[in-house]
Amino acid sequence: MKVVDWRKALILWFQDKVEILEFHTVFARSPSETFRLPSVLRLKRYIRSTHNNKIRFCRENVYLRDDYSCQYCGNEFERKELTLDHIFPASKGGGKSWTNVVTACRKCNQKKGNRTPEQARMPLKKPALEPEWLPQKEISFCDQESPPVWLNYLFGHD
Ligand SMILES: [Zn+2]
Repeated sequence: MKVVDWRKALILWFQDKVEILEFHTVFARSPSETFRLPSVLRLKRYIRSTHNNKIRFCRENVYLRDDYSCQYCGNEFERKELTLDHIFPASKGGGKSWTNVVTACRKCNQKKGNRTPEQARMPLKKPALEPEWLPQKEISFCDQESPPVWLNYLFGHD
């Protein structure tokens, strides 16, 4: 998945490389024609990415890596019940990285507070590692401002 701007989206469409699954409610005008701007495209052919395929570190991708389950109590939660926990507390210099941030439920996050898992006696269910891949739901961008219609494609359909 990839975000492209609307000009690129229209070019891909004119070149017949994509089909349009959803439209925005805004239009682009050329001197002779008006186009409804596409919101969600599907590539007709898979185009190999030339970028390195490192998975972006961000909230959504951490939740995905951890299967939406708290890494302390092991239970699965609704997205809105989840938080990110710094294994080595941020207040003590712990960074935001794949190896120092895990998914935690609100309760465990609060209980652990500003302590390490050892201090809190709350061992992690599995080590925090940088993922080499994520399930097909992988989100390769982490924009909280995504249009609502994108959510179906980002979180959808198992
Ligand atoms: Zn928990």
